Amino acid sequence: MQVLLLRYSEIHLKGANRSYFERSLMRNIKYWLTGIKFTLKQISGRYIVSDYAPELEPQIIEKLTKVFGLHTLTPAICIPTSPEGIIEECKKIEVNGKFRVSVTRASKIFPIHTIDFAAQLGGVVLDNNPNAKVDLHNYDTNIMVDIRENGYTYIGTKVIQCGGGMPVGTAGKGLLMLSGGIDSPVAGYSMAKRGMTVSALHFHSFPYTSELAKQKVIDLAKKLTGYLGDVDLYFISFTKVQEAIHRNCNNNYMITIMRRIMMRLAQKLSKDINAGAIITGESLGQVASQTLESITSTSAVVDMPIFRPLISFDKVDIIEIARKIDTYTLSSLPYEDCCTVFLPKNPVIKPTLQNVEKEEAKLDINALVEEAYATLTKLTLNLHGDN
Ligand code: ATP
Ligand code: MG
Repeated sequence: MQVLLLRYSEIHLKGANRSYFERSLMRNIKYWLTGIKFTLKQISGRYIVSDYAPELEPQIIEKLTKVFGLHTLTPAICIPTSPEGIIEECKKIEVNGKFRVSVTRASKIFPIHTIDFAAQLGGVVLDNNPNAKVDLHNYDTNIMVDIRENGYTYIGTKVIQCGGGMPVGTAGKGLLMLSGGIDSPVAGYSMAKRGMTVSALHFHSFPYTSELAKQKVIDLAKKLTGYLGDVDLYFISFTKVQEAIHRNCNNNYMITIMRRIMMRLAQKLSKDINAGAIITGESLGQVASQTLESITSTSAVVDMPIFRPLISFDKVDIIEIARKIDTYTLSSLPYEDCCTVFLPKNPVIKPTLQNVEKEEAKLDINALVEEAYATLTKLTLNLHGDN
């Protein structure tokens, strides 16, 4: 029988919480594979996915590689344990180049010592693959023969990397400030990888920003569902806020003040949806609004944690992840973001809190926040939906 052997990542570190994490991971595996018929079993530190239609295997693997908390997976053949049966299976294996056989024996009932049996199986493989060569250290293929205590043996040759990290839903909820750019989707992915449930908030500036810019953000959030699961995506119109800042304040403070108002709105929404942290895609020094001084002045308006998982990342490293999670092409589409609409020529790079507050005093902040918050809308993107 064809099966998938799943190995989990850091969960074993969790001591007393272990069963909570295991249950969350099992729940997520089942949810990610909704609509597919399969059986999920746990055997000593692994999960086994079985009883699925073989032609669905590539699709199942594709989904499982995005489940956080899983470390690796191996497509394997599962047979009732017997030396003869294992030898028969090994006769069917095709290998080119250097290989080794590694036998693990959780079942001490098995009569042959693992090292002797591995050598015997290596001989069987060689007999059927004249071009192959045994190399215990520099091998291209590792033939894994895993003899478990449940009476079954699993034989596979591939180790496929999965998401790593912790199961989504085990580390509280965060509100991702999602622009249409490259960084914020990667920031959301990064926090989900640590087990956070992620909701997202986007500020748009109709009519200065287009319907296409909004659709791009929806498409980005959809892409993220593969890793995050269902995503609640919130929209707030930022037009009135930007116009008010533009009319009343020194334009060089535009971005700093915008950021501070975005943060206030993000905090307000977080409290309403029970999110315990705000997540942004900021990276230190990347642009004028991401200097230490700018970050200090934007952080000053909220009293909850702000997670900036990319703070120390170079752009090239962020792009590498964006490519891996397939958000890069979407993010690179050239639609305007609300931040670019009223871009000042000379934004302050090191705003002092005092000066920012002085500029901000020219606005009725509370009224602007309330007015903007009244435009809040929500779209739920389902992991399985066409949305
Ligand atoms: P990104 O690629 O994520 O847009 P960026 O390098 O363009 O980042 P900024 O435009 O300075 O950086 O934005 C910094 C962070 O502020 C973003 O990562 C995002 O978390 C948040 N942000 C910016 N614009 C918006 C927006 N329109 N709606 C929601 N959040 C935003
Ligand atoms: Mg941006």
